[in-house]
Amino acid sequence: MPKTASKRAPQSKRVYLFHEGNKDQKDLLGGKGANLAEMTNLGLPVPPGFIITTRVCNEYLRLGKLPQGLMEDIERALRHVEKQAGKRFGDPRNPLLVSVRSGAKFSMPGMMDTVLNLGLNDDTLKALIALTGTERFAYDAYRRFIMMFSDIVLDLDRHHFEKMLERKKQELGVRLDVEVPAAALKNLVAEYKRFFRRRMGYDFPADPMKQLQMAIEAVFRSWNGKKAVDYRNFERIPHDLGTAVNVQTMVFGNMGEDSGTGVAFTRDVATGEKVIYGEYLMNAQGEDVVAGVRTPIKIAELEKQNPNIYKQFVSIAKRIERHYRDAMDIEFTIERGTLYILQCRVGKRTAAAAVKIAVEMVKEKLITRQEAVLRPDASQISQLLLPRFDPAAKDQAEKEGRLLAKGLNASPGSAMGVAVFDADKAEQLGSAGQRVILVRPETTPDDVHGMLVAKGILTARGGATSHAAVVARGLGLPCVSGCDTLRVDPEHGVCAILDLSPIREGDEISIDGTTGEVFRGPIRTIEPRFEAERDLQTLLTWADRAARLEVWANADYPRDAERARGFGARGIGLCRTEHMFMEQERLPVVQKMILAETADERRRYLDQLLPFQRSDFEGIFRAMDGLPVVIRLIDPPLHEFLPDHEELHAELVETRTKLGKEKSARSAKVKRLEKMLAAVESMREANPMLGLRGCRLGIVMPEIIEMQTRAIMEAACESKKAGVDVHVKIMIPLVGHVNELTFVRDRLQPVAKQVQKEQGVSIDYKFGTMIEIPRAALTAGEIGKVAEFFSFGTNDLTQTTFGFSRDDAEGKFLLRYVEDKILPVNPFQTLDRAGVGRLVALAVEEGRKANPKLEVGICGEHGGDPESIHFCHETGLDYVSCSPFRVPVARLAAAQAALAEKQAAFRDV
Ligand code: ADP
Ligand code: MG
Ligand code: MG
Repeated sequence: MPKTASKRAPQSKRVYLFHEGNKDQKDLLGGKGANLAEMTNLGLPVPPGFIITTRVCNEYLRLGKLPQGLMEDIERALRHVEKQAGKRFGDPRNPLLVSVRSGAKFSMPGMMDTVLNLGLNDDTLKALIALTGTERFAYDAYRRFIMMFSDIVLDLDRHHFEKMLERKKQELGVRLDVEVPAAALKNLVAEYKRFFRRRMGYDFPADPMKQLQMAIEAVFRSWNGKKAVDYRNFERIPHDLGTAVNVQTMVFGNMGEDSGTGVAFTRDVATGEKVIYGEYLMNAQGEDVVAGVRTPIKIAELEKQNPNIYKQFVSIAKRIERHYRDAMDIEFTIERGTLYILQCRVGKRTAAAAVKIAVEMVKEKLITRQEAVLRPDASQISQLLLPRFDPAAKDQAEKEGRLLAKGLNASPGSAMGVAVFDADKAEQLGSAGQRVILVRPETTPDDVHGMLVAKGILTARGGATSHAAVVARGLGLPCVSGCDTLRVDPEHGVCAILDLSPIREGDEISIDGTTGEVFRGPIRTIEPRFEAERDLQTLLTWADRAARLEVWANADYPRDAERARGFGARGIGLCRTEHMFMEQERLPVVQKMILAETADERRRYLDQLLPFQRSDFEGIFRAMDGLPVVIRLIDPPLHEFLPDHEELHAELVETRTKLGKEKSARSAKVKRLEKMLAAVESMREANPMLGLRGCRLGIVMPEIIEMQTRAIMEAACESKKAGVDVHVKIMIPLVGHVNELTFVRDRLQPVAKQVQKEQGVSIDYKFGTMIEIPRAALTAGEIGKVAEFFSFGTNDLTQTTFGFSRDDAEGKFLLRYVEDKILPVNPFQTLDRAGVGRLVALAVEEGRKANPKLEVGICGEHGGDPESIHFCHETGLDYVSCSPFRVPVARLAAAQAALAEKQAAFRDV
């Protein structure tokens, strides 16, 4: 009969010996336990042990005590482990010592730390001395155990114990722990125990079984510790998963120079290169590597120090990697020349490494192309397309001691510029073309104007959801937040960093939002080159094959369109035409056109604008040869093209005062200003976002959109004559009622026909609409009969569905909403499925019912957000359109959505 830890029926089995579990049981055995089980079954040298399930944790938390019979199950498991280890727990001649390790399904900070050396007491200690022959080692282990157990299990802070050790070292006149001799450690153990008794009112538990039970209960309790709960809230990990407990035979890396401990990754975590990457320390126990007292050695050195062990380790690492078919993170310990593996898990990596590893593992035939496409985190890969420091320049800066501080990596990308401590100043310098880094204690909505022109943001306070972090991510700006060694003093224009020389306003600094590092002086940055990212290109080609959704781009200018195409966009989903009106030489004509008193006068100015628009469109058609281009007719309220009311008023008053009453009355300038002011006043709206804009403008002043349609069609005809393959989609914005669309289309259709007749060319063109008003979504069945395509303008649709004005919301209260969890996420970043999404789904369904040939896409910023892209896939859209830089992210996300659906369908069978 195979060995087993309990006689219970499988569903109520509470304790698993390592060989009884496997890697797919993370829910029940936790991540650490499941992998220890898997490695045991692979025959790897894992010190024997057992796992108490997450189910028991939940039972314990419910009952407030360990469930009946658990300790018997544990004793039974312990007997097996004892047999395998050839030692007995609590045996005064040959004692088994264990570690007690927590391990939930997801690795989680805030959970109980590991207790090592459990099972030591005055009796087992003697045996340890006798067996190892080193008194010093044994007392040191005992001392550490009392300290760790008190601290971790009973909350008796370890610093009390560390102080006692410190005092001892002073008495002895030594600096390092290792210099404290056995006799002194023996005294220290006695001192620790006296201290324990004084503080706790009872003796340090000497019974190993009692120690074990207390440690197990402490692990379970730590599941509901404040830090753990906060972390789960933040990461949206369910609270009812519970944690498992791993009890494992101790092995010692601190038994002399033929022992050691370390951590290694099977590939380079930074670059993805296929080399073992990691660090270790000889004669050390787990915690020493992290404690930073001694500097760990690069794993490559092990090859020289101990070629035999190194060879063994490399072959095990390879084996683990092949078995898990992923790059893995491995903990190991060498005890007197024998290698043990203590943990393995899928290794965390940079975006660059994630892509490279995925592609190379396909070449090595470890994984399929589809698996490779699913591996990298889509939102993470945008890192590869952001500016980053030249590694050599960064190394150099580090060597020169220019690394000043490390904060939170709040928004990826690198930037350098002059430090400015005030948003107004930043705006002033930034608009003048200076590269500025805005440095603030923290940011608030009052700083946004400065953030808009800055190249990067650095704050002393605030986490990953702080104002600075959220706004920077939205703007695609590098940001380091919560850099708490900085003392920012905006009033005096200075920032102190510990005892280093301070940064003053105007000093150059560099920040890396991907790592959180802050440097003094400039560091050369590399502008990303998509063409040079070979592995990413390969991965995206595979992605395109898997995806059903197409990825298009929002581009207003030919150069954006070219860039988008370079990134793999399959069309332009939104070309805004209003920017074309804003350009310097055109604006005066645009203003005259707006101020025109008659339709004829307006048409005269429009005729002057037409050639400009036509050439803009020609450029875009050429760039998108063979691909569809959606052009949106003018959308914003007209006052956006006119001077600011306040400024105009001030100028008028000033001119009048200067000229005096009489001259003013005759001045042409005053007349012009008065006329302009009157016009601006007449166009002022209480709520321009819901005012005279979009198709409403086209209905009130049809001449503008007639001109635009003519420009589009003329450009299309010219391009076609020049051999360009043109596919035009003319988009009518802000429709709420089908009649608005019909009215506008009926005005524009004759123009389109007329141009084709004039030019003797026939163009593939369509009229469609943006769905960005809830009423349009709700009546999509009507609108679908008239429109040939829908494009969901989810920025406006989110504003109108929530009734939020975006600028006001993001500046004033939305952040609070997200921080206080009133909303799970910012709905302008990730599409709100329950509300906005419901309208989208309804419109797709009813629109298609009315018109089976209806094409549907999305052109809001959500088109570049992976989570929203999943929604678009599930809802059956034809394409997503996003800013050119997001296109690669969107291609990967679109493929991942399709593959996830396939996997889900497979699971349901
Ligand atoms: P974490 O979850 O923080 O990684 P671990 O349970 O892995 O915590 O343990 C912390 C340290 O203790 C690691 O270095 C680990 O290798 C070491 N350790 C844990 N169990 C043992 C053991 N049985 N023998 C030797 N070292 C151990
Ligand atoms: Mg831990
Ligand atoms: Mg670990």
